[in-house]
Amino acid sequence: MNVLIVGAGPTGLTAALELARRGVIPEIVDAKDAPSTLSRAVGILPKSIETLNRTGVGDKLAESGVQITRVDLYRDCKRLVDVDITNHTDPTDFITGLPQDKTETIMSETLASLGVDVQYGRQVVDVETKGTSATATFADGRTATYDWVIGADGVASTTRESLGIHYEGYELAETWSIADLELLPEDYDTHKINAWMLDGDCDQRDVLVMLPMGRGRVRLVSSTPNSVSALPLDLDIEAVRHTGNFRISVRHAESYVTGRVLLAGDAAHAHSPVGGRGMNLGIDDGQAAASAVIEEDTETYAQVRQAKASHVINGTERARKIILSNNPIVGAGLKLAGWLITNVTFFQRQFVENVTQL
Ligand SMILES: Cc1cc2nc3c(=O)[nH]c(=O)nc-3n(C[C@H](O)[C@H](O)[C@H](O)COP(=O)(O)OP(=O)(O)OC[C@H]3O[C@@H](n4cnc5c(N)ncnc54)[C@H](O)[C@@H]3O)c2cc1C
Repeated sequence: MNVLIVGAGPTGLTAALELARRGVIPEIVDAKDAPSTLSRAVGILPKSIETLNRTGVGDKLAESGVQITRVDLYRDCKRLVDVDITNHTDPTDFITGLPQDKTETIMSETLASLGVDVQYGRQVVDVETKGTSATATFADGRTATYDWVIGADGVASTTRESLGIHYEGYELAETWSIADLELLPEDYDTHKINAWMLDGDCDQRDVLVMLPMGRGRVRLVSSTPNSVSALPLDLDIEAVRHTGNFRISVRHAESYVTGRVLLAGDAAHAHSPVGGRGMNLGIDDGQAAASAVIEEDTETYAQVRQAKASHVINGTERARKIILSNNPIVGAGLKLAGWLITNVTFFQRQFVENVTQL
């Protein structure tokens, strides 16, 4: 069986690891000339660690990252929620904080040890499928035919566009930002996610999340254009390592399987970073796409993954709208929810499940 994976992000790398583990050596190509140094996702959920541990990658990620064990939520600088997320899960079920580029490096090193090297600088410009095969055309004009193609080429997927698959949805109005900061480790809790719902200056609020990425390193993500200036804490910032702005699309592909081509990860779905689900959903998709190809059961793949992504998109959109809402009734509801989560075991358990499970 010959399989092409388009895109060596977390989704494509997971698919390649799973195929290689099961004895199918795929070809994996990426348009970039070299591995990415951009770190978007930080939080790796326990389910992703478990999925990636089939090839030993999960433990390597957990050892390289920081264990995130607490979550604090604030509204207008008043603490609503303060929860130890390991209280209601297996003690090993912590979220791992690791920059996405490091995650991808560990995945591709393990992949290489299984005999698969990512081919960088190989952009796919077209994908077609007929009968029991699919043909890819590369930027240098060469074409090759495969039994299966997995399109894991991100939000602007050429695979999806070549096949004319509709990517239904919308773009959010606000410009979001990220920043990676170096802090003195003694100035903050290196095992805690802090999230603030801030009083915005328009008809909606803003959100800012601070995630630990390692000793002395944190990532800020905010719905404002400048996450450093939105930080409501007086911290001694040693250095600002990286900043960036991004827009958010909320979109879902109308079909996940066309002939011998499967879509996976951001190529199939996109949503806001609220809840930190995107990469984790992509890892889950990548594993499922590899299994679907090996077991030749793409119908189940399409049904299960589409339903899962709909669930995540609806959940993250609901959470985003609540967090950004200026409505005083929503505010009162959040205060009550915060009290229940902090003080009542049942609600705490539900909250922890929502934060740590995909
Ligand atoms: C600021 C920010 C913070 C985030 N934080 C989190 C978080 O904490 N947790 C989380 O789970 N998710 C998070 N996400 C989402 C996460 O980064 C994405 O969901 C994830 O990267 C998707 O992985 P992917 O492999 O599907 O796509 P990508 O990571 O986009 O990878 C696609 C790859 O395909 C390659 N490619 C594209 N076109 C072609 C082509 N034509 N030919 C060959 N190769 C091609 C690209 O070069 C790229 O390497 C965040 C996103 C942002 C923007």
